[in-house]
Amino acid sequence: MSEQNFDMEVDVVVLGTGGGGLTAAMAAHDFGAGEVLILEKFGMIGGTSAMSGGMLWIPLNDQQEKYGVEDSFEEVVAYVDGLADDGHLEAETFGAFLEEGPEMLRWFEEKTPVKLRLFEGFPDYQSWAEGAKEFGSRSLDNDVFPFVELGSWAKWVNPPKTGWPRRTSMIEDYYSPGLSEEELADREARDCRGQGQALIGSLLKGVLDRNIPLHRESRARHLIHDGNRVVGVVTEEGGKELRIKARKGVIIATGGFEWNERLVNSFLRGPMTGPVSVPECEGDGLLMAMEVGASLGNMGKSWWLQSSMELAAHGRGKANYLIGNSERTRPRGILVNRDAKRFVNEAANYNAIGPVLFNWDANRHDYVNLPFWIIVDQTYVDTYRFFNTTQAGVAPPWAVSADTVEELGNKLGLDGKVLNETVTKFNADVANGRDTEFGRGDNTYDNFWGDRNFEGAHRTLGPIENAPFYAVKMESGVLGTCGGPRMNSDAQVIDWNDKPIEGLYICSNAMSSPTAGVYGGAGGTLGPGMTFGFIAGRHAAMKG
Ligand SMILES: Cc1cc2nc3c(=O)[nH]c(=O)nc-3n(C[C@H](O)[C@H](O)[C@H](O)COP(=O)(O)OP(=O)(O)OC[C@H]3O[C@@H](n4cnc5c(N)ncnc54)[C@H](O)[C@@H]3O)c2cc1C
Repeated sequence: MSEQNFDMEVDVVVLGTGGGGLTAAMAAHDFGAGEVLILEKFGMIGGTSAMSGGMLWIPLNDQQEKYGVEDSFEEVVAYVDGLADDGHLEAETFGAFLEEGPEMLRWFEEKTPVKLRLFEGFPDYQSWAEGAKEFGSRSLDNDVFPFVELGSWAKWVNPPKTGWPRRTSMIEDYYSPGLSEEELADREARDCRGQGQALIGSLLKGVLDRNIPLHRESRARHLIHDGNRVVGVVTEEGGKELRIKARKGVIIATGGFEWNERLVNSFLRGPMTGPVSVPECEGDGLLMAMEVGASLGNMGKSWWLQSSMELAAHGRGKANYLIGNSERTRPRGILVNRDAKRFVNEAANYNAIGPVLFNWDANRHDYVNLPFWIIVDQTYVDTYRFFNTTQAGVAPPWAVSADTVEELGNKLGLDGKVLNETVTKFNADVANGRDTEFGRGDNTYDNFWGDRNFEGAHRTLGPIENAPFYAVKMESGVLGTCGGPRMNSDAQVIDWNDKPIEGLYICSNAMSSPTAGVYGGAGGTLGPGMTFGFIAGRHAAMKG
């Protein structure tokens, strides 16, 4: 190796503290790396993962047996390969995900504070497809985790967008087991948090238990290489550049590139205007890996999601985008496009709706379904939470309202008469119990997030009939991008000749998705993302 100057030296450096990064650091430690170091660009830990639902989609997990579910390699392959674009699924990395995901879960259970439980009944996202588990078993949820166990580190965990962590798990939120006053008080006292907070809290506890150092406000900028081998990283810390030698490997876990306008415009298959992730996901890892010749995959795809911009721009000086998920699934609401017409099954999963927004009109030379709006009535606003409003019956301040549907359409700059026809047609379908245009409510997934006071398709189908009527403009958003440097089954980044770039590893949203952008079910990003963190840490420690 040629002589290079370094400011410090460790075995493995991990870039980023989302689910993948923290998993990778712990795995590197447990499989034999003596010195592991984590660098985090932001002052807070956990990235988007800490704000998330924290669920993991891991097919063939051991808990399936306990819950009496049969699953097989062939079924999962039929499911994901059937949904992926032809020729896009790479057998090597997809196979590694299926093999190592359950292994990671065993290691979590035995060696770490991470506690995951199968979410019974949560359907795979394309519940109608061959190989799908229509009634769940591949999605896992976190038990609540007491933040008092983090000591003074608790204050450095990135909070959810609402600012307040939930004291309950996803399973508890869904099935409402009715926790006693004592249980809730105890959770409050121990600062027990569920969902993404529980995931990052428990991962961070594992990192602290192992005495793995973590530098906050340290932005990795460049990889240092010696020939074809990556031997370290240059990071910006405290206004200075620090050169860190990594004897066994550098693991990129820096999230996607959705907040980097140039990368978004260069790569994504259509306009993307509303990312809901942390603004630090600017593709730093992608840029660093491109500099050393990484091969790229899935660059046009994303974990698509429909969002809306809150009026007040915040979030570190960048606009704040809110997820519009249950909003479009519940009864008494529809999505309409610039022609004031419905264009999609509103209750389909967010990732599947994304590409519908990129339908192109050759005559107009523009997108047919952009911009788009959600339209609801007063009963909807009285019954459900509409975006981040906490007061029943009150729409968010950025909603447009009117006493008639036609007037609402005109206020939005649409053809009000057409909007009225659209709503009238939808209401007639609702009355007949079947969405004849888009089949909304025809499958198990559609109705899962609907209103469980109703049965069947009526969980998602309800009339839009009571004034005033409201509209909120929606954005073509993402949870994060899912394209990036390609890797092999050991999570080693590969070059354009499919040869590993020694010393360089990748995981989570920074990598080229091993499911080729197929969102299998709840946890479809964190499941594969953390599995590759586990593989990367283990390989770097043992063979790096
Ligand atoms: C409300 C919500 C709910 C969600 N629920 C789920 C769910 O239940 N299951 C699921 O699978 N997905 C869910 N998602 C999506 C999921 O959160 C993300 O896909 C996932 O967290 C991405 O993980 P990551 O590690 O790639 O990125 P992040 O968690 O964003 O972590 C990346 C980290 O890298 C840091 N970083 C960036 N650049 C650098 C650099 N140069 N040097 C050092 N550090 C750097 C960032 O600051 C950040 O902390 C949800 C998202 C949201 C917003």
